[in-house]
Amino acid sequence: MLNGVRTVILDLDGTLYDKRGLAQRMVGRLWWCLPLLAAERLARRNIHYVRYTSKEEFFDAFFTYMSRGHWWSKSIAEVWYNTVYMPAMVRLIKRYHTTRPEVMELIAEAKEQGLQLAIYSDYGCVEEKLEALGVDPAQFDVLVSAPELGALKPSETCARDVMEMLGAKPETTLFVGDRDDKDGASARAVGARFLKIEN
Ligand SMILES: [Mg+2]
Repeated sequence: MLNGVRTVILDLDGTLYDKRGLAQRMVGRLWWCLPLLAAERLARRNIHYVRYTSKEEFFDAFFTYMSRGHWWSKSIAEVWYNTVYMPAMVRLIKRYHTTRPEVMELIAEAKEQGLQLAIYSDYGCVEEKLEALGVDPAQFDVLVSAPELGALKPSETCARDVMEMLGAKPETTLFVGDRDDKDGASARAVGARFLKIEN
């Protein structure tokens, strides 16, 4: 599987751990702010194929979408996202989810072979989530999320940015993820290989 591979770029949610049940648990935990939760989902969908030039511009547009047509302001959406939504997700991952053994084996094997490793997530709090899963963030050469680079997966530019951060070449890069439309499409956009993690 790692034949000819020099760089492994892994997705986080759904890949390092089985995320089944997480969305339902988020609803159960955040029932008191369901409209915000729904607005977050919708904003993600709206912003899907837009490329911004920076993290700031991305989140400005994201929170604008989240507040459009609602009683809450852009800054309330931002505070909620950073102090309620993301911390709740991290806590639920810590409490209910564990790493996928086959993916942890792949990471260990890649480490042993001296390959470069990166986590490339579609969400923030990458380090916090790794710690919640008991995975040492220090073993990865790059920890990055797509929004930090100004877009969401499967942005070609963001995927290229991640490879550039690693000095990676497409022909020796393997993307690993649970979603073909996000992780697989990122790999195809840059001409790299893709390994799909199945449930
Ligand atoms: Mg995923």
